[in-house]
Amino acid sequence: MDKKADITLEKIVSLCKRRGFVFPSSEIYGGLAAIYDYGPYGVELANNIKQAWWKQMVQLNDNIIGLDSAIFMHPKIWEASGHVAGFSDPLVECKKCHSRLRLDHLLEGCGITADEKMSEEEIGKIFEKNKGKIKCPGCGVSDFTDVKKFNLLVQSNLGNFTSDWQKEPVYLRGETCQGIYVNYKSVLGSARVKIPFGIAQIGKAFRNEITARQFIFRTREFEQMEMQYFVSPEEEMKEYEKLKEARWQFHLSLGIKEKNLSWHKHENLVFYAKAAYDIEYNFPFGFAELEGVHARGDYDLTQHAKFSGQDLSYIDPQTNKKYTPHIIESSVGVGRTFLAVLADAYEEEKIGEEIRTVLKINRHLAPVKIAVFPLLKNKSELVKKAKEIYGKLKKTYMCEFDDNGNIGKRYRRQDEIGTPYCLTVDFDTLEKGDVTVRDRDNMEQVRIKIEDLESYFQGKFSA
Ligand code: ATP
Repeated sequence: MDKKADITLEKIVSLCKRRGFVFPSSEIYGGLAAIYDYGPYGVELANNIKQAWWKQMVQLNDNIIGLDSAIFMHPKIWEASGHVAGFSDPLVECKKCHSRLRLDHLLEGCGITADEKMSEEEIGKIFEKNKGKIKCPGCGVSDFTDVKKFNLLVQSNLGNFTSDWQKEPVYLRGETCQGIYVNYKSVLGSARVKIPFGIAQIGKAFRNEITARQFIFRTREFEQMEMQYFVSPEEEMKEYEKLKEARWQFHLSLGIKEKNLSWHKHENLVFYAKAAYDIEYNFPFGFAELEGVHARGDYDLTQHAKFSGQDLSYIDPQTNKKYTPHIIESSVGVGRTFLAVLADAYEEEKIGEEIRTVLKINRHLAPVKIAVFPLLKNKSELVKKAKEIYGKLKKTYMCEFDDNGNIGKRYRRQDEIGTPYCLTVDFDTLEKGDVTVRDRDNMEQVRIKIEDLESYFQGKFSA
């Protein structure tokens, strides 16, 4: 049977809650729609994903450097970028149950091509033609208001102590890349870079998403990992193809199965874009966007030059040619990568009469690398030895000490959080100086001498 068929989103949500990966935000107050908190194992997994991305982007590329720009930025930035006027999704409301829905998603659900970037008029025409086919997913009735474009920018009253702060709000950033564009000149003037070069950033973004279902796939507060690559006009498409390939390989390096990834080409390009593809992942609810890889021409720097009055052009040191750099970008969400990694790793195996739930997650991403158990909790010599080993290993690896319940229960718990190795100290350890190491994936057990543990795990985690 296709594994995807029986791995439902509900199972993943339940595992996340049960094992402390993801919690609904403000749960004791009834929650806050489309906002989630990352629990003890969730924060480890998210950090490991971010580290893997940073390593691939910044550490391994001499001409990509890091940045951490502030969440709050000058309001003019969002005018220049087009977000104030055009960062909007098409909204309709069901007249019966008052659910607010994204029209492009409703149309796509009926097999009708639509795009959130279409104008109100364009998508409104398609809606008129197909109204009869669309039903409200909440109540099943087909009676909607007219379509309206709804702006996704989230406003704040930062620095404005008057009562009419909404007139000139400071926004919570809707994407991290604007912080990169407006720092382009400072980076160029301070770091020893020349085109082509990239700026990478990981940070929070905020969007007033109309429909925020599907767990952490679409949230109103989320984290993006974005890399903007500044290139000459002539090199844009060549570099774009290279970036597309590198991004595909990145997802494979996280252990995601290639059959669960696909490219989606944008047919409705915004006027300035040269090309736009998304990498989609086969989530439990079907293929959907994981990452955007776009060739954006010189639009971003041209706009910021115009609105700020600053010269953002570049002079090629070899040819002396002056031009506005073109930008190709890679933009991927931490939450969506997290969900893809979990969905890809989640397996249910029949072992005798029991079902083993196991996260066969890439070893480097696993929240806990090694769990250390004394065989029995009430034998102090076993506990002492296990604690000694745990104390040494945790200096190098994220480890967990567990003496609760029986060994079977401890294995099940570690399997569910994807711990690659469980190490047990038993009575033989005291006599012979070796321990049992059990492999998560095939459940095979080997005896390893205590003095060899360091090199054993080094071998396992170096690749
Ligand atoms: P969608 O079409 O799903 O709304 P988008 O095209 O608006 O996404 P981008 O603006 O290209 O998304 O953002 C880049 C990446 O940021 C996305 O590929 C996704 O991984 C992540 N992302 C965007 N919006 C959200 C969100 N509301 N919640 C979680 N991640 C998001």
